[in-house]
Amino acid sequence: MSSAVPRGETPAPPVGTSRLTVLSGPSGVGKSTVVAHMRKAHPEVWLSVSATTRRPRPGERHGVQYFFVGDEEFDKLIANGELLEWAEFAGNRYGTPRQAVLEHLERGEPVLLEIDLQGARLVKQSMPEAQLVFLAPPSWEELVRRLTGRGTEAPEVIERRLEVARTELAAEAEFDRTLVNTSVEEVSAELLALMSID
Ligand code: 5GP
Repeated sequence: MSSAVPRGETPAPPVGTSRLTVLSGPSGVGKSTVVAHMRKAHPEVWLSVSATTRRPRPGERHGVQYFFVGDEEFDKLIANGELLEWAEFAGNRYGTPRQAVLEHLERGEPVLLEIDLQGARLVKQSMPEAQLVFLAPPSWEELVRRLTGRGTEAPEVIERRLEVARTELAAEAEFDRTLVNTSVEEVSAELLALMSID
């Protein structure tokens, strides 16, 4: 499961930095599709680019979807306190670079993190003013269909992701808001509204 940068390491955010929204939910629910749709219309919404030890999927580029790093480099990021949070997910590590997030918040800009549940919890611990938004699938059957349908992962990887998804669905109650992903257009609009962006 997750390990975190020790609690208390993240400095308290300065006044006026409550524009942090964390979008989380089970793998395959469509978080990245919603975020991509929203940012097409609103490129001013800054999305943190995470570091990961996962290999790039076809079409993914370093510095765009993720910073793709090796295990040693990820260890260094943790050791140097450069990650706001990090978590292990389905055998790979993912983390949010701290500096860029804080810089955008200090400028009063809306900031969006699209991260897993463990990461969302860690952000809430260190930045309680963050707004946690849970993206829920219309149904469990739909989530299974989406997870199996991507076609890019091995069966054992899908099975692990389904296991994680079962746990993640149960965590909805910990979130400030839930959005049900019935249509990408509707959910994007709702997310924008939650972030107070017209
Ligand atoms: P994927 O491998 O499908 O791109 O992402 C797997 C999971 O990792 C997704 O639920 C995604 O939201 C999450 N994730 C991506 N970046 C981060 C991060 O920086 N921190 C955490 N905790 N989870 C992340």
